[in-house]
Amino acid sequence: AVPLVVAVSTSLSARRGLLVRDRAAFERARELQAVVFDKTGTLTQGRFGVSDTVALGDLPADECLRLAAALESQSEHPIARGIVQAASERGLAPPEVSGFRNITGRGAQARVEGREIKVVSPGYAREQGLATDDARVRQIEEQGKTVVYLIVDGRLAAAIALADLVRPESRAAVEALKRMDIRPMMLTGDASAVARTVARELGLDDYFAEVLPEQKAAKIREVKARGLTVAMVGDGVNDAPALVESDLGIAVGAGTDVAIESADVVLVRSDPRDVVAILDLSRATYRKMV
Ligand code: ADP
Ligand code: MG
Repeated sequence: AVPLVVAVSTSLSARRGLLVRDRAAFERARELQAVVFDKTGTLTQGRFGVSDTVALGDLPADECLRLAAALESQSEHPIARGIVQAASERGLAPPEVSGFRNITGRGAQARVEGREIKVVSPGYAREQGLATDDARVRQIEEQGKTVVYLIVDGRLAAAIALADLVRPESRAAVEALKRMDIRPMMLTGDASAVARTVARELGLDDYFAEVLPEQKAAKIREVKARGLTVAMVGDGVNDAPALVESDLGIAVGAGTDVAIESADVVLVRSDPRDVVAILDLSRATYRKMV
């Protein structure tokens, strides 16, 4: 039989939008020593606006944005949505696209008007030997903005800078965890300069940047190997293996089905403070039982 106290607490939690999918994991929540948050969409709103388009080749900036938007109209990524929106605001009509494919955790590619178009992370551009040393781009990155590169027929055409907003609730969640002697950490596929700025803004001491999707679970294993009981909080398909690897996998509600199916707890509202509520509730629930 299910102990009564647990049953009561989970209905209380359901009312607050905290859905417990795995009771044993929920019980472990009171022993947590570290919480690893995904950055984009979890600690931040995951809504990107384009702030700058820096032309790096022969094509003018607006033409670059038009080509990038054509490609990104086929992608669900939050960066893609920001680029499509920016082109539309500037009245740039994106042309037809064929052969679209995702480059997982790095970008996307397609053929547009007979040209091979890619929009990719700085890490991917570097791997392709397309590193830039543009002072304007470096300055934008230092502001904590996410930079992606447009590559046209194998050549760098532009750097597109996007700004995301940190959720105001994230700072409170980080502070509350620290008061509970739980170490908050951040995990992201985004560039180091962006991660550093967000970490500073939130008061996070620990973060992992430029983590490829297939490496996220390994980072959780790394935290466990330090002897810490760890929760992972994320929303994306890419976060699913890390959610499974952690001692307590927490999916945020607006997340993808894959993340939700991989989680032990689901936060219906996308509020990082609800992670703290889960820990409080677990502590309160299992304290009453002994
Ligand atoms: P996160 O870990 O922050 O949720 P992702 O793993 O989804 O990020 O993506 C990591 C990086 O890959 C992004 O910061 C971006 O540079 C690049 N990227 C992935 N998909 C796209 C896309 N459709 N368009 C542009 N860049 C992309
Ligand atoms: Mg994410």
